[in-house]
Amino acid sequence: MLIAGNWKMYKGPAETAEFCLGLRDQELEGVDVVVCPPFVSLAVAVQLLAGTEIAVAAQNVHWEEEGAYTGEVAVGMLRELGVYGTIVGHSERRQYFGETDETVGKRVHAALEAGLFVIACIGETEEERERNETEDVLRRQLSVLEPDDNLVLAYEPVWAIGTGKTATPEMAHEAHDFIKSQLDVPVLYGGSVKPENAAELLSRSSIDGALVGGASLDLESFTAICRAAIRS
Ligand code: PEP
Repeated sequence: MLIAGNWKMYKGPAETAEFCLGLRDQELEGVDVVVCPPFVSLAVAVQLLAGTEIAVAAQNVHWEEEGAYTGEVAVGMLRELGVYGTIVGHSERRQYFGETDETVGKRVHAALEAGLFVIACIGETEEERERNETEDVLRRQLSVLEPDDNLVLAYEPVWAIGTGKTATPEMAHEAHDFIKSQLDVPVLYGGSVKPENAAELLSRSSIDGALVGGASLDLESFTAICRAAIRS
């Protein structure tokens, strides 16, 4: 079971240090824990979590080794920092920053090639679900990915991210089953996971963990979700 915290554009180095110092002291045996701070906070997170089982991942990475790509970060730069992996294809990148299936595929491929662990995000919008297109969308998003020991997927229905709306465990289970029939890798669920709903979601056999946004910013709620994963 894997619990990953996506901090999005929250927590600079000082807040990251405070969180990591608190996280270091928690007993979290029996669950794999990953935190994904913004780029500028990766170094301090790696430093403060060194020697623990808690991994640090970025929120994105570029596919070229280096070059004139203002605002992007290369795989080698993450490796140099001691970062363990990266999220790729988060729906906020797809929605607001023009990320496409093609660029997601390139980022995932480059990161895996370099030995990074990757959490690749997929999921349908509310309109797509209403039009009964969920499976078509997932199939299309998955078409650029191949199984790899270092790859996990996060099924994140876009309508459930940061909205307080959560897919029912049944809906998540159905989507996870479909995803696994297309690509045989672990699948995390993401979309308003909180301490109150984590245990029920994580009890489903097809749900291999969670990618947590809002609730990962607070040490108490994040560790409560990690503990729900340990118990499940
Ligand atoms: C996310 O950012 O991946 C996410 C699932 O956010 P939230 O938990 O806030 O819905």
